[in-house]
Amino acid sequence: MDHERSRELYDRALSVMPGGVNSSVRATMPHPFFIERGDGGHVIDADGNRYIDWVMGYGPLLYGHEMPDPVSAAVQSHAAAGPMYGAPTEIEVEHAEFVARHVPSVESIRFVNSGTEATVSAVRLARGYTDRDKVVIMQGGYHGAQESTLVEGTPESHHPSTKGIPESFAEHTLPIPFNDPEAAKAVFAEHGDDIAAVLVEPILANTGIVMPIDGYHGTLRELCDDHGSLLIFDEVITGFRVGGLGCAQSKFGVTPDVTTFGKIIGGGFPVGAIGGRAEIVEEFTPAGDVFQSGTFSGHPVTMAAGKAYLEYAAENDVYEHVNRLGRQLREGITEICADRAPEYTVVGTDSMFKTVFTREAPDDDADCCMSGCRQDPSCSRYESCPKTGADVAAAETDRWERVFWQGMKDEGVFLTANQFECQFTSYAHTEADVERTLEAYRAVL
Ligand SMILES: *Cc1c(COP(=O)(O)O)cnc(C)c1O
Repeated sequence: MDHERSRELYDRALSVMPGGVNSSVRATMPHPFFIERGDGGHVIDADGNRYIDWVMGYGPLLYGHEMPDPVSAAVQSHAAAGPMYGAPTEIEVEHAEFVARHVPSVESIRFVNSGTEATVSAVRLARGYTDRDKVVIMQGGYHGAQESTLVEGTPESHHPSTKGIPESFAEHTLPIPFNDPEAAKAVFAEHGDDIAAVLVEPILANTGIVMPIDGYHGTLRELCDDHGSLLIFDEVITGFRVGGLGCAQSKFGVTPDVTTFGKIIGGGFPVGAIGGRAEIVEEFTPAGDVFQSGTFSGHPVTMAAGKAYLEYAAENDVYEHVNRLGRQLREGITEICADRAPEYTVVGTDSMFKTVFTREAPDDDADCCMSGCRQDPSCSRYESCPKTGADVAAAETDRWERVFWQGMKDEGVFLTANQFECQFTSYAHTEADVERTLEAYRAVL
């Protein structure tokens, strides 16, 4: 595989862009390949190499690189008509109505321009609504590049996880381990009256893919209710992917007060959104007193793409297709791992999949979860599968980046660049893509 042109482009990029990229995860080693174009479930790079693409833009591309005809038509007509105005448009109302109709917790919604902007606004909303400052987050959870959540440590000792954030900001953020009901109860026992919100990804999806243990979200729901705190589900990645149009909250049967969206909800264009009970979301200006605003918010092209995306999913076998391919991949990889690398854990659900290079294996894996870890206590792997962000971080993360990812790339399979980010099937992928990918796993693992 020749990468001459990508190397040249990266060389130029390094002169004018920090690290040569606009988002840090893209700076793969030794240098990224530059994409020329997409083709269904594949991408073609600047040197003409073709890869099966399971990165899918890190989440938004439910249809791969193919826009279904109604999506394409909607995008083109709205781009040609403006493309934006600084005044409201009908398409914003239609998209909001669609989301409110399908997502149990959403009565009212504010569209913004990224997942990060959504979580920033959701945290401000929760603080404004409750008149409290503290926010509980999960260790290893990800809510975008924002000040209140780039915080690590424990409720007793926590600090910013990056330079550039004042210690005093981190003071109000309490990180606890995911899947640990006792830790959640303890933080509420200590700080309950000061907690504005618990902010949680229903599935840790930016740290390996860690499923919740049975009842975990129910515990968070009860603690929030008992203490007058808001439960915020960050569904930026799981929204309209896990649990279909009802999102992960419908799969787990827990209704949050506020939900943040991004990725799929914009049909491949920049987007974020904050939805929830009207009484809460209407605290946003101009209805209420929590300031929130944006030049590009509710951008007509994004709204048209997002609404057409979701409508197409409502009317076609989209979730059936992507979930079937997801299951085939997880089952196939589980079999390959049982044979070659029994210490690895296959994780994921619906259209998400990943392999975590854990370091332990059960003696007998006869009755393991065959289609991705479900945190099933009767599974023989239960003790060795990741339950928290720390468990994933303790895996062989270098193996993924330096050995496995490179090997898969050479086999023409594009996976997410590190151990932590998850991978996605799309409506454009085929069973042949699954077969070829499993052959590559067989060759490289
Ligand atoms: C991707 C992601 C974000 C950040 O969204 P951006 O659009 O990258 O700002 C926030 N939360 C979760 C759960 C995400 O997966």
